[in-house]
Amino acid sequence: MEVTIVGAGLVGCLLACYLSRRGHEVTLYERRPDPRTAGAERGRSINLAISERGIDALRRLGLAEEVLAEALPMPGRMMHATDGALTFQPYSADGSHAINSISRAALNRKLLDAAEAHPNVTARFGHRLAGIGNGTLEFETDGGPVTEKGQQVVIGADGAYSAVRARLQALQGTDFSQEYLDYGYKELTIPPKLGEFAFDPGALHIWPRGRSMMIALPNPDRSFTCTLFWPHEALAGLDTPERVRAHFTQEYPDAAEVMPHLASDYARNPVGHLVTMRCDPWHGEVGGMLIGLVGDAAHAIVPFYGQGANCGFQDCVELDRCLEETGDDFAGALEAVPAAQGRHRRHRQARAGQFRGDARQGGLQGVPRAEEDRARAGADAARALRLPLRAGLLHHHPVRRGGAADRPPAAVGGDVRGRAADRRGGHLEEMAISHDLDRGWRA
Ligand SMILES: Cc1cc2nc3c(=O)[nH]c(=O)nc-3n(C[C@H](O)[C@H](O)[C@H](O)COP(=O)(O)OP(=O)(O)OC[C@H]3O[C@@H](n4cnc5c(N)ncnc54)[C@H](O)[C@@H]3O)c2cc1C
Repeated sequence: MEVTIVGAGLVGCLLACYLSRRGHEVTLYERRPDPRTAGAERGRSINLAISERGIDALRRLGLAEEVLAEALPMPGRMMHATDGALTFQPYSADGSHAINSISRAALNRKLLDAAEAHPNVTARFGHRLAGIGNGTLEFETDGGPVTEKGQQVVIGADGAYSAVRARLQALQGTDFSQEYLDYGYKELTIPPKLGEFAFDPGALHIWPRGRSMMIALPNPDRSFTCTLFWPHEALAGLDTPERVRAHFTQEYPDAAEVMPHLASDYARNPVGHLVTMRCDPWHGEVGGMLIGLVGDAAHAIVPFYGQGANCGFQDCVELDRCLEETGDDFAGALEAVPAAQGRHRRHRQARAGQFRGDARQGGLQGVPRAEEDRARAGADAARALRLPLRAGLLHHHPVRRGGAADRPPAAVGGDVRGRAADRRGGHLEEMAISHDLDRGWRA
């Protein structure tokens, strides 16, 4: 079958590998120039944490070893108190399980190489999908608009603001929701200190500060990339170098000490938005073509979970499995993937509930001591993170529920908002323990 994938990001490239392995002819369209020759795009995170289910997706293609060779394992998180006290919380009782810090750009380059190593994959850069017509795909290129014949199957792996999904949203019966948190994120750098890591590179570092949080992941060049998750007004409030320095010296003193370019980085680096998007279903028929979605295009989640790419990778595994089961019937397979992903999500939520419940009861029967401490720490962190929610700091902005024009207004009323608030509460709790849960997703 001839398949078009729109978006050669992390998930689009991985999917190209899976589909070409099944013998399909894949054309990848990407709006950016080839990142292997043009350098990394600004505005995305510099590094990201890949955990077991992401690695599993790579392992099935024989790519895990090569990718992990450049990754830095983080077997636990290091909590930084304001007085400089450090607490290490391992992700597993015996310290054998780790999440992995990896450069986004390096991972994307590797996955592109892996996709293009298949003779039945063609990548076309500098093609931004602008519209989907009757059996055609319309692209904007440097040389002007280009219309291409659409393949029978078109899969949108074009990220949270997907142009493919925009076309699906216009179909009757497609639900869509988008929630912005009142928080933004900003990246900063902790350079090497005298040629060495300024902090322990074997941990994901977290500075929890009530309504705000900073995290840091190590890079192979011995620097750390920090990400601030702060309310928008707090980010905007530090509007002079003096205010930036004073705030960091008070709230993050150990980090401020090792950030010589803090004020200029802070002024220069952009603020990103935190958005969760959902779409249901993830497929439909447009202009005589079967359209499907994977990765952030189908389900963008806020980055502090550290799960978006991992989840998108798992979409590829599930789509491959469903294609196997349906004899490469793409319509049937695309329909089955969200249900399979829902089962994984419920499994993770059940584990979250188990950790929280056990921790609240104050004892975990038969669970090793470190595991028990970890569960309690997760519950404590979750309690701390529930505060901003209760204080009303997080707001729900239901921008649009596509296909809902013919529904009574009650369908988008208080009930939905109530459920969204509940979901957000769950998100914040899960954030405190997400990587711990991910560790066991295959169970
Ligand atoms: C600050 C931050 C930190 C994060 N940390 C983590 C983490 O630690 N772990 C984790 O698992 N996830 C993390 N994520 C989430 C992760 O980055 C995303 O889930 C992941 O990148 C989704 O991959 P994707 O391929 O679906 O989409 P994207 O990475 O957004 O790729 C989409 C691709 O499509 C292209 N494109 C877009 N529109 C078009 C168009 N119209 N035509 C053609 N091409 C188009 C884009 O140029 C891009 O190459 C983080 C996200 C952020 C913002």
